[in-house]
Amino acid sequence: MTTDVLGMGAVAMDLVLRCEELPGEDGFAFVHEERWLPGGSCSNVLVTLSSMGARCAVAAQIGDDSYGNGVRADLDRAGISTRYLLTKLGGTSLHTLVAVDSRGSRSIYANLGDAFLDLSESQVSREMLDGVKVFYTDMLAAKPALELARLCREMGIPTVFNLECSPTFMESCKVARDELEEMISLCHLFCVGREGLRGLTPMADERQAALHLNEKYAPKGGVVATLGEKGAFWSGNGETVSVPAFTIAAVDTTGAGDAFAGALIYARLLRQRDMGTSLAFANACGAIKCLQPGPRLKANEKEVEEFMEAHRNEHP
Ligand code: ADP
Repeated sequence: MTTDVLGMGAVAMDLVLRCEELPGEDGFAFVHEERWLPGGSCSNVLVTLSSMGARCAVAAQIGDDSYGNGVRADLDRAGISTRYLLTKLGGTSLHTLVAVDSRGSRSIYANLGDAFLDLSESQVSREMLDGVKVFYTDMLAAKPALELARLCREMGIPTVFNLECSPTFMESCKVARDELEEMISLCHLFCVGREGLRGLTPMADERQAALHLNEKYAPKGGVVATLGEKGAFWSGNGETVSVPAFTIAAVDTTGAGDAFAGALIYARLLRQRDMGTSLAFANACGAIKCLQPGPRLKANEKEVEEFMEAHRNEHP
């Protein structure tokens, strides 16, 4: 059976708290609304791909608790295969608390539990990659993700590595710096957010930082830097492409990077569109996500194209 994308990474339930302002240190905020929503960066990416019509599967470990049950039910509902979603008996699943203010900025508190990062190298195998077109990972958990990426290299399957956090945060999730660097060299396409750029290079200029990472680690398909309200930038094969962000009034930026990554994989690796077209599509998905509350993009390919058409004068 063909699987377009196998994803290994964060699958979680999020408690989303809406408040006027995010509290500063020793601060205080009133909560206007609170809701449990299925999230997790990897789930968000796979749900974006699924809404574009891609067949997806997830490889991760949850606990047998209410959070884990929520994660499994949600992935099943989205039509994402859970045959490699393992359950640790007595384990606590990853869950997060996301505070969002009236301008769409957010703070995230993650409880890692004891199941998610406990997935080991011995729990993954070559068979998991049979019929897989793309392997996507955020490197959580590190060792099994690296093992799958090494197997992908042997089998000629492109790996997309998405680093949305700082290397220091990754270290607190048991991802050693040398493992992180091995993944950047192994992967086909490296997607990196501003925190990753800052942590991996000393450069203040984000485009220079992306160029530097592309030269240093040479992932075959290049480096894509996501720059929030400044859009996105790609460097690869001696070329660069820059796309400015759409001008929108963001209500919730949670998951913008995930929507972007899912859309980029769809356009570039599943539909083989050129990098400029793929970045423009991903950029639109990131923007649409910012217009929607919650961690997930709710749009199919046609709706994304309509959004791009409506903003044609802004992005000819
Ligand atoms: P993350 O969610 O990982 O922090 P970014 O903030 O870089 O990722 O956002 C990912 C992409 O989403 C950006 O490259 C851009 O295309 C889009 N995006 C994010 N924030 C905005 C915004 N305020 N306005 C328009 N587009 C945005």
